[in-house]
Amino acid sequence: MKKISRRRFLYCSSAAFVCTAVTNRVFWPFSNQVCQASAPADIGGKIFKGDAPDKLWKWSHEGFIYKKLKNNKVVCGVCPNRCILAPGDRSVCRSKVNLEGTLYSLVYGNPCAVNLDPIEKKPFFHFLPQTKAFSIATAGCNFRCLNCQNWEISQSKPHEVRHYELFPPEAVQAAQKARAESIAYTYSEAITFFEYMIDVARFAKEEGIHNLIISNGYINKKPLLELCKVLDAANIDLKSLDDAIYRKLNGGRLKPILRTLKTLHEQRIHFEIATLVVPGYVDDTDMLKQMCEWILDNLGPDYPLHFLRFFPRYKLDRLPPTPISTLTRFRELAMAEGIRYVYVGNVPEHEGNHTYCHHCEKLLIMRQGYRIPTNNLEGNQCKFCKTEIPGVWRDMKDKPV
Ligand code: SF4
Repeated sequence: MKKISRRRFLYCSSAAFVCTAVTNRVFWPFSNQVCQASAPADIGGKIFKGDAPDKLWKWSHEGFIYKKLKNNKVVCGVCPNRCILAPGDRSVCRSKVNLEGTLYSLVYGNPCAVNLDPIEKKPFFHFLPQTKAFSIATAGCNFRCLNCQNWEISQSKPHEVRHYELFPPEAVQAAQKARAESIAYTYSEAITFFEYMIDVARFAKEEGIHNLIISNGYINKKPLLELCKVLDAANIDLKSLDDAIYRKLNGGRLKPILRTLKTLHEQRIHFEIATLVVPGYVDDTDMLKQMCEWILDNLGPDYPLHFLRFFPRYKLDRLPPTPISTLTRFRELAMAEGIRYVYVGNVPEHEGNHTYCHHCEKLLIMRQGYRIPTNNLEGNQCKFCKTEIPGVWRDMKDKPV
């Protein structure tokens, strides 16, 4: 039997204790670093073999971007997972199936969540403040994030969740009735209901309603370019600048996200970037510096960057919330690197909730929750120094505060 030193024995015993303690919900400040070491290196989703329903239902629609292969197989081209499905298989995102050699989405006109939200909640801080977004989601996601905030719908199959019937024309009518200026494709992962989203968005565009996507950005270029024809704004997660973290925390890869951000930039779509600062996974200073460098080199300094506070959830329900000092440090560092509009989310009353002019540094927009009690923008300019502020603005004087 191999001998181990006393030092090594003590190290192994304490590591085992930490993991046991965490399992039993005993607080331990360094628990995540130790347990992460034994976590799988890639938690990417798998295809559900033979899991398709026997028959289609009312909310089935043939996929828009896929190819037929030999032996009645199909390959979906919407996201980098590129699911290859044999007849009877269900996709990684759980919402697409192969029935007799044709790819179908099972969530067309079949949202599981419908709400009217303040646009600030998404978060969008530089796009039509104080307007309302009619928000829709269907079941399914192409990621497997350990920290998912909406796992009850994102990690479910369409028939497992409560759902509504809302085909594209009715979705737009409902948004109009609610006096929403935008429709937001959000909560779960909009890329996985691409067919439904794009048809709603086309109707919405015709009616002068804006289209917003809140997404992990894990989409192939062809469908993204198609979406850009009707898209007004996007909030894209940049979960880390470390591909290994993407694999073990989210079950995805970094490169396609960077490509999505570059494409949105080239297509001149307004977007904001959101990073959830997960303790032990996404709180490394060197990674943050590299992220800022990449943003500045490829997108420039003007896209708003939101650092969001993590709260224990789903499979990471034993981690502590992100310390506020970490979020403050991230914000200060990103601004020192040269990013002009850096926010802190999920921390009420933090100064990172507000917008300051990047030129004269005066307060432009004060936010209290989703309210804006102070607004010092005139059109798209700072009222003090007349600097143009990046974003999509309009006169907010007529809006209640
Ligand atoms: S959208 Fe869904 S079916 Fe298509 S490739 Fe991605 S995970 Fe697979």
